[in-house]
Amino acid sequence: MQTALADSIRASPQGHEADAILRSCVHCGFCLPACPTYQLLGDELDSPRGRIYLMKQVLEGEPVSAPTQLHLDRCLTCRACESACPSGVRYGRLLDLGRALIEERVTRPLPSRLERYLLRRIVPYRRRVRVLLGLARTVRPLLPRSLRARLPAAAGAGTALQPGQLRRWPAPRHARRVVLLEGCVQPVIAPEIDAAAAQVLDRIGLTVVPVGGGCCGALAHHLSAHEESRAQARRNIDALWPHVEAGAEAVVVSASACAAMVCDYGRLLSDDSAYAARAARISELALDIGQLVAAHAGPLRAAFTETSAASPGQSPLRVAFHAPCTLQHALRAAGVVERLLQAAGFTLTQVADARCCGSAGTYSLLQPELATRLLSAKVSALEADAPQVIATANIGCLLHLRAGTALPVHHWIELVAARLARG
Ligand code: SF4
Ligand code: SF4
Repeated sequence: MQTALADSIRASPQGHEADAILRSCVHCGFCLPACPTYQLLGDELDSPRGRIYLMKQVLEGEPVSAPTQLHLDRCLTCRACESACPSGVRYGRLLDLGRALIEERVTRPLPSRLERYLLRRIVPYRRRVRVLLGLARTVRPLLPRSLRARLPAAAGAGTALQPGQLRRWPAPRHARRVVLLEGCVQPVIAPEIDAAAAQVLDRIGLTVVPVGGGCCGALAHHLSAHEESRAQARRNIDALWPHVEAGAEAVVVSASACAAMVCDYGRLLSDDSAYAARAARISELALDIGQLVAAHAGPLRAAFTETSAASPGQSPLRVAFHAPCTLQHALRAAGVVERLLQAAGFTLTQVADARCCGSAGTYSLLQPELATRLLSAKVSALEADAPQVIATANIGCLLHLRAGTALPVHHWIELVAARLARG
């Protein structure tokens, strides 16, 4: 694609990067069928190619309007278009740059600014989330049905899948260690997920050291608050680094969206001389829990064999797996979890729709209508082959799916932990 970026933009490193990405797009349109918003709305401006064109206009210095911002807001940042693109266009990065530029030039209406500000001020902070959730649960009967459905159940004594005793963190007993970044919302809403991850890793010979840190920075990043996101990344690097220096083999994250963000710390802080080297090392070590478990397939197979011998004759649970976009397109780990679930003896049901479920970070709150349509389509696809349970790999998708189905929805690592605990 030919470009003529505005001089002021082309001179900056960001402008230079955006120019290179724009030039790599050949306008072929192969990305269009992969785009969930294009499928729903049928408008080229709500497709990857259309949004690339809009961002090109902005970068070339043309006037920016609220409709341009709306078309970019409607993008899920799912990056399905990147996986479909034969030219390797880094759409997600271009979107980051384009959105930030538009944010500077278009003043959002006050309610929208307030909503985005509150999301940044509340969601990344555990104590604030805990207080708000407690309040919401107190007045639950008074809430509208749509909000009630989205309210997570209290993190209490466990579930049928993860009763209380399965939620315990195993005592450290292995010389090999990995560090687990706990993040923000998940430890408040679903602490059983990290406990399950620690149990599975314990069975394959790894001691897990939990590190509180805080929000990975993805939420602020996707709301174009890039400095806030970089500050959160620096704080996590400070918390993780002593463990890396002490020999931790990996930095593992059990929410795929957060794992993708930590994998990007190296790029995010590449211009920060105080953090660049440590950020790059953390990114090298960062993995989603699925990638880490898959890298230890041998010990895992042995643990499954031991468990099967101890409890023979149980019929396999039918599982529908929803692969989060961050796992498929950002981490490029499509199929990894499915193979692990099959190796663990679960029957995977057919899921015809691999699109985004509509959760997409804060998307389900900021674009509720589109998010609900995507949720409904996704749940239909997940339920079509009569599963007994739905599994996924990201806390945002998990909570979103729970609002749309009566089936139990769990993180896949909980299923594997429960399976291993049977032995
Ligand atoms: S982003 Fe890729 S697939 Fe889409 S129009 Fe450009 S080159 Fe083609
Ligand atoms: S990131 Fe997803 S929603 Fe956005 S343009 Fe690409 S495919 Fe469409």
